[in-house]
Amino acid sequence: MAFHPLTDRQPASRPPELHTLGAAPRLAAGFGALDLFERLRAVRDEVDGAIVFTTSFGLEDQAIAHAIFARDLAIEVVTLDTGRLFPETHELWAETERRYGRRVRAVVPDHRAVEDFVARHGIDGFRSSVDARYACCGVRKVEPLRRALQGAAAWITGVRAEQSVDRAAMSYAAIDPLHRLLKVNVLLDWTRARVVDFVHAHRIPYNPLHDRGFLSIGCAPCTRAVKAGEAERAGRWWWEREEKKECGLHGRGSAASPAGATVPLAKD
Ligand code: SF4
Repeated sequence: MAFHPLTDRQPASRPPELHTLGAAPRLAAGFGALDLFERLRAVRDEVDGAIVFTTSFGLEDQAIAHAIFARDLAIEVVTLDTGRLFPETHELWAETERRYGRRVRAVVPDHRAVEDFVARHGIDGFRSSVDARYACCGVRKVEPLRRALQGAAAWITGVRAEQSVDRAAMSYAAIDPLHRLLKVNVLLDWTRARVVDFVHAHRIPYNPLHDRGFLSIGCAPCTRAVKAGEAERAGRWWWEREEKKECGLHGRGSAASPAGATVPLAKD
């Protein structure tokens, strides 16, 4: 299989905040009129430096990966392989690489941190408390994300506003103060139905778990299928209260977010 040279890391030439600060309001102002392909092209054109897209191989992420690969955009596709993913997710990962002839870069947790967590809390210790769960997500997701984004000027995500109250308060594009880069949510205003239509229209491979009631797919022990009428992310950490249901990868937009860039919750 031929792999694309654009997946090689590109060094950021300057501190990200200096040259991406102006891009946030420009992207936010223009996104409403653009389709997904055009949005990704606009991000690539606006950003001087490496762009990373992090995928968990969910429906949204498959749509974005398709748009990146189909247009051969210089955006690196990276996944955080937590060590607790579903076998179906790994199979989709391989299928995606075969379909597009591109490699998805894996970032794995630090083995010593995982060993420490398991020694302290047990293999499924994340169920014992919210703090233990955050600790597990910290080791298996948040710290690897920091490494995945190192040197990047921009980070593309598949976050949608209708997924949660926190996500509804996010912007199309804002400076992420933690990772010191431009964070761009290219599907923020899309409904789930629109994502489903896009995936079917372009015959994009997707996780078969979606057809078995898994609307949002993360680590296997922390994800279950949802029942009719339940919220999209109800199957994630279902033993916790609703407002806790993030893993720490996605905070709210920073104070540098452009005024008026927040997108209201879109309804089908
Ligand atoms: Fe750990 Fe569950 Fe978070 Fe995965 S989703 S990192 S298994 S707590």
